[in-house]
Amino acid sequence: MKYDHILIRYGEMTLKSRNRKMFVSALRKRMNRALDGMDVHIKTTRDRGYIDLLEADAYQVIEKLKHISGILSVSPVVKIEKSEEEMKETALQFAKDFGAGRTFKIEAKRSDKTFHLVTFDIQDMLGGYVLKNTDHLSVNVRKPDHTITAEVRHDAVYMYHDTVQCLGGLPLGTGGKGLLMLSGGIDSPVAGLDVMRKGVEIEAVHFHSPPYTSPEATEKVKKLVDIMSERTGYDIKLHIVPFTELQTTLYDRIPDNLSMTSTRRVMLKIAEKLAGTTGAEAVINGENLGQVASQTLTSMHAINEVTNMPVLRPLLTLEKNDIVNMAKQFGTYETSILPYEDCCTIFKPKSPKTKPSLEKVRKFEERVDFGPLIEKAISGIETYTPNSEEAAAEFGELL
Ligand code: ATP
Ligand code: MG
Repeated sequence: MKYDHILIRYGEMTLKSRNRKMFVSALRKRMNRALDGMDVHIKTTRDRGYIDLLEADAYQVIEKLKHISGILSVSPVVKIEKSEEEMKETALQFAKDFGAGRTFKIEAKRSDKTFHLVTFDIQDMLGGYVLKNTDHLSVNVRKPDHTITAEVRHDAVYMYHDTVQCLGGLPLGTGGKGLLMLSGGIDSPVAGLDVMRKGVEIEAVHFHSPPYTSPEATEKVKKLVDIMSERTGYDIKLHIVPFTELQTTLYDRIPDNLSMTSTRRVMLKIAEKLAGTTGAEAVINGENLGQVASQTLTSMHAINEVTNMPVLRPLLTLEKNDIVNMAKQFGTYETSILPYEDCCTIFKPKSPKTKPSLEKVRKFEERVDFGPLIEKAISGIETYTPNSEEAAAEFGELL
């Protein structure tokens, strides 16, 4: 089938009647960027979008659209005149192209109420024509193998057979900004991408402790940011915090079974300060209830106490298996499972408390002046931006 357009159905933003214009224009911007260099023309209206496929291949364009949040689904379509003959021939073309499966139905949508045939008549006409001109098909309206849709609109008739589900959610840039706590593990990249799907732009923060953590571990986090940026068409800035001095101080001064709680508290304090300077309104992490000692409700309560900022945990109640599948789908999994640890084993407490006492944590922390160390760590932050000159130079070195 030679398609000439792609029909774009919007996601949840169809609910946002007053902000619709802003959502549509944000989505348009994302599509422009994703389809840059392709021979297409993008048109958006209040309730749907069309891509005019000048010379581009429909499914190559759809591959790009699939990853844009705010698009619920797309269909490659044939746009024709409002003529019975053209509609019949196009329906037959679709039927001849069906893959496996012997049953079909015609679905007509008639938003042009002046069209001379009503919905039922259109279905009857097209169904009858297809049946008469093929010998292996039959109609099944309940559970057809194939559906051919004919939408009669004011400007033209749009016909299609295939609908591809996309990411849904909201266009990036319509939901403010968040700061993602990004480790090298499986969970946090997925958490970030999931929040981006709802329109939130992100910057990321990573804590490393050289020489206890290896350069490869930091490179791995940069690579994750590259993948996430490529995937979303949005360059995610990564702030790398030198954490060694704080890490060793925590190790020396806080009892082993509470050090994980204090470490997370200090990280969150730094993240909160950084959020203030980047314009982020929330911190995002990859925590999952019950996964490890620091991720029980009691632990989260003790850690969260250091900030008033919302801490978003999009993966909180998911099954690990589902998170792994999401990571595979997003393309971050293979990098996440590389062996380089983002935290040195010598700092890993032998038996971290699953129910840390906030009172005890506070008592031990009071004995140490973390303030200057926190300030020093913040002033030592280095920022990496994907697709920047630095990223290009690093890529050059790899070749
Ligand atoms: P992940 O796969 O995301 O590393 P995890 O299951 O290994 O998660 P933890 O290591 O306990 O869990 O980390 C919980 C969350 O704390 C992470 O999802 C991440 O958001 C944040 N975090 C942990 N370590 C770091 C780090 N070095 N830098 C930035 N954030 C971190
Ligand atoms: Mg981890």
